[in-house]
Amino acid sequence: MFYSGCPGTYGPVPFDPFERSGPLKLNVLPRSADPGEAGFARAGRRPQAVADGDDKFHDECGVFGIFGHAEASHLTYLGIHALQHRGQESAGIASLENGEISLHKGMGLVGDVFDAGTLQKLGGHAAIGHTRYSTAGQSRIENAQPFFFKSAVGPIAVAHNGNLVNAEEIRSDLEAQGAIFQGSSDTELLLHLIAREKGSTPLERIQAALSKVRGAYSLLFLTEDSIVAVRDPLGFRPLLVGNLRGKTVFASESCALDLVEAEVVREVEPGEMVVVDEKSLRTVQRIPPQRRAQCIFELVYFARPDSQVFGRNVYRTRKDLGKQLAIEQPAEADIVIPVPDSGVPAALGYSEQSGIPYDMGLIRSHYVGRTFIEPSQSIRHFGVKLKLNPVRHVVKGKRVVIVDDSIVRGTTSRKIVKMVRDAGAREVHLRISAPPTRWPCYYGIDTPVRSELIAATHTEDEIARYVTADSIGYLSEKGLHEAVRAEPRSFCDACFTGEYLVQLAPPGGAVSAGDGPEPKAKAYESEGGAADR
Ligand code: SF4
Repeated sequence: MFYSGCPGTYGPVPFDPFERSGPLKLNVLPRSADPGEAGFARAGRRPQAVADGDDKFHDECGVFGIFGHAEASHLTYLGIHALQHRGQESAGIASLENGEISLHKGMGLVGDVFDAGTLQKLGGHAAIGHTRYSTAGQSRIENAQPFFFKSAVGPIAVAHNGNLVNAEEIRSDLEAQGAIFQGSSDTELLLHLIAREKGSTPLERIQAALSKVRGAYSLLFLTEDSIVAVRDPLGFRPLLVGNLRGKTVFASESCALDLVEAEVVREVEPGEMVVVDEKSLRTVQRIPPQRRAQCIFELVYFARPDSQVFGRNVYRTRKDLGKQLAIEQPAEADIVIPVPDSGVPAALGYSEQSGIPYDMGLIRSHYVGRTFIEPSQSIRHFGVKLKLNPVRHVVKGKRVVIVDDSIVRGTTSRKIVKMVRDAGAREVHLRISAPPTRWPCYYGIDTPVRSELIAATHTEDEIARYVTADSIGYLSEKGLHEAVRAEPRSFCDACFTGEYLVQLAPPGGAVSAGDGPEPKAKAYESEGGAADR
């Protein structure tokens, strides 16, 4: 029996019982050895990946907004529907009518939270919407977004994609000053800061509040007469400006603009603040260009393949990742199959480059939704089986290459390999279209603590043995950058390299990685006061 830690629980959790090549003990790092345990683990994080029966880094949130359209809330509903993959726990829309903001939000999928009646009540010509996956803060209605409050400078609502790395310090300071919080989300902090700042306009207060936060944020604020869109100075999370027959739209990804038939105009630039109101669309603040830290994982896995993010077509990028993977990690095989859906473009690229035929050896059920099953031993194994089933006819007697985009704990990969082997595959070679994920993310992605990342504590051979594959091959860091066409100093790749670009520790605080190498925190945020608006 293997044991692994589980975020949010400190006792051992029974590990996967499937055995093929003899036991391999997981070398679990002491929890105190993880930078996330050194003061940066967010309150209320929970074993989400386990509860979902999968084993991936999880998306953060999706934001959408539109100004000046008579059907603003209906279009926002469509927009956040297209961004459902970025968050499935809660959804909300705030709309603006005659200087007043109305809000509706709830737990669940967009289609469950809204109906014709609720949308009818969200009148007006401007709206912002949000789909949430709780990377920080617990999964409860108090943390659902948008947040809304009435300030001395009028009503303000906010929708946030990202994570603030100094949220705990700010929360402590505000609590010491008497602030009372409804939930545990980072975003609520922003509203408290705005409420306390000096300034005679919402814009002045938003600017002042943002000067106090560090980390990843793509934000949409709805005020009594405008939408304010902001991206953090390093541009971790995407945010696009679109145009719908003369009306301004904002969205995390272009797939949301496509759905409402808006054109992509441009990105909100890192460090840029854009305002749209009845008068115009204009940039009111721009941090001088410096290095960027666009999340490279958006291109590997998070974003929808039909989207354009960071100026790149996601589908094409993933295919190129698969091609590069085939060059770096060839395999003697009869067939290439993807782990659907996210592994499909990379598997196609691998097949094209290697000349090994592509086929669908695994079929995904699209009707599972969020299972929310308890991670008890008897049920957990069905989590993957509910979602994926092998096509025996395709894999039987074959040497199979399985292409996936990442391995986090290894538990799901192990089940998939077993599934394919049980369906009659002669050999199973696992190929991953990204480098090993060895470090947690602090910038808006739900990741396990480092001790649970299998690549942080195991060699590739050990991982191959654990997942029971005949061989394993990851894309190199160099290959990732080449395939993404990442200009120097333009992307964050900290979950692969440990090079954190925004300081994790409070100034003067230590970040310990225990037995592992020290995380290489780089305080680019302080370059030219870039993060200090
Ligand atoms: S650490 Fe990884 S997941 Fe997080 S922002 Fe950087 S590249 Fe993205």
